[in-house]
Amino acid sequence: PVDEPIHDAVLGRSAVEFGDRAALVDGLDGSVLTYAQLDAFTRRIAAALAEAGLRKGDVLALHSPNTLVFPAVFHGATRAGAAVSTVHPLATAEELARQLRDSGARWLVTVSPLLETARQAAELCGYRTGGTGQGEGGIQEIFVCDAAEGYRSVLGMRESAAPEPHVEIDPARDLAALPYSSGTTSLPKGVMLTHRNIATNLAQLDPLMPAGPEDRLLAVLPFFHIYGLTALINAPLRKGAAVVVLPRFELGQFLAAIETHRVNVLYVAPPIVLALAKHPDVDKYDLSSLEFVLSAAAPLDAELAVACGERLNVPVVKQAYGMTELSPGTHVVPRYESAPPGAVGKLLPSTEMRVASLVDPGRDVPEGEEGELLFRGPQVMKGYLGRTGETDAMIDADGWLRTGDIGRVDADGWLYVVDRVKELIKYKGYQVAPAELEAVLLTHPALADAAVIGVPDESGNEVPKAFVVRQQGAAGEALTEDDVLAYVAERVAPYKKVRRVEFTQTVPRALSGKILRRELRAAEAEKG
Ligand code: ATP
Ligand code: MG
Repeated sequence: PVDEPIHDAVLGRSAVEFGDRAALVDGLDGSVLTYAQLDAFTRRIAAALAEAGLRKGDVLALHSPNTLVFPAVFHGATRAGAAVSTVHPLATAEELARQLRDSGARWLVTVSPLLETARQAAELCGYRTGGTGQGEGGIQEIFVCDAAEGYRSVLGMRESAAPEPHVEIDPARDLAALPYSSGTTSLPKGVMLTHRNIATNLAQLDPLMPAGPEDRLLAVLPFFHIYGLTALINAPLRKGAAVVVLPRFELGQFLAAIETHRVNVLYVAPPIVLALAKHPDVDKYDLSSLEFVLSAAAPLDAELAVACGERLNVPVVKQAYGMTELSPGTHVVPRYESAPPGAVGKLLPSTEMRVASLVDPGRDVPEGEEGELLFRGPQVMKGYLGRTGETDAMIDADGWLRTGDIGRVDADGWLYVVDRVKELIKYKGYQVAPAELEAVLLTHPALADAAVIGVPDESGNEVPKAFVVRQQGAAGEALTEDDVLAYVAERVAPYKKVRRVEFTQTVPRALSGKILRRELRAAEAEKG
């Protein structure tokens, strides 16, 4: 395990070694933050927060889209001793208030365009704008941290001359981050990650995913999610790479940024892979700088990964697997190794895995068979904040964490993730994985997107229902329900057949790219 606070693990060496090189580049206006500037900001933010009264152990909520100063706020706050609870930038005031309350946040950092939402949320938690002495609980102060004015104005223009705080951090016990799980299966839970959890996972990933000062990444996945935090901030900045930052995914902007900044490394999620594989605009840009593309966070169809790789002229879209509770990684396809189609990776060093039987969870299945994935290692979270019951249900007394995901491992150690245990459709005693059907649907040239859930049929059995989005153009328009049913029926075992089809405009997705099947289920239940 790494016994260094996360801000030192990430910036300690790179600030010295790569001082005048670009750490972060604005993907829209091209402005640059060097490693020396990033480090200086981080220290000034730490000083300003300490001067404002932040004490070790306080929770600071970071509510911001991707900006150049986001990494400085994160590491400045941990340097001051805070646990940073990152918030979805599109959260409503109520959602933000829930996270502020649940996390016990005392400090809130936002950006100007989100200030009104931030203020409303803080007020829902008892904060009074302009008031002093906000009492014991609740938000003490809201800081605005814009990536503007040449990045000179950090933390609401507070020009702090205060000395840098010296906070003793115990990496094994002190929390660095308090991200919330994505809320795909139930309400998001606060995940307690120590400095050691996160720093160790970086060290575990490093030999398989080496990065260096010649790399130029494009950061369009959200920084607030643990995948973005690790892949787009911590891992590259630790190695002197340049991170080109975009605030949101917009295909044209994204492709233009790859061309302009000669991006060679992309970390993405399946919806972006889908767009890159299928959208006609992709051919309009010079993407020849790309060398390596990796997708994680949700199931990715193997054929789509190959098609996308061929189109971008990179070997194939590789994968990684993880979850917020695992800081986040356990598996990755190594950067310079090829993997069989569909594999999400090889087990990281100093991580143990078990594949438990779905019928008899006490037993492990033989190699090659499917079961629930369990992990043990230094990246396993400390627990869910304030949810001892749920923590105990997730991590057993021996330290094994139950992922709720189904997978299998082949003879060479490659992991394949099938789907979530909770999402399986039970068709007449058979188990059908919606992700597998979605993957088949996405290979249809006239379909742009698809999602599958289980719905009751007339006799009360659960059957797979597909929600599908037509590809623009004549082929998409001509497509019928029967075409879709037949297409899947030709490609899967009879018990897996899709039995209902509905055409829809979009598939509901979280920012991280996950299909929100529970939203489809709720809408379905409402229809009766
Ligand atoms: P919640 O736990 O709140 O319901 P969530 O599980 O979606 O939300 P995250 O921690 O963001 O929250 O996501 C982790 C999950 O993402 C994993 O448990 C797994 O289901 C899925 N996942 C991650 N990587 C992959 C991958 N390469 N292939 C398939 N699924 C993946
Ligand atoms: Mg989860």
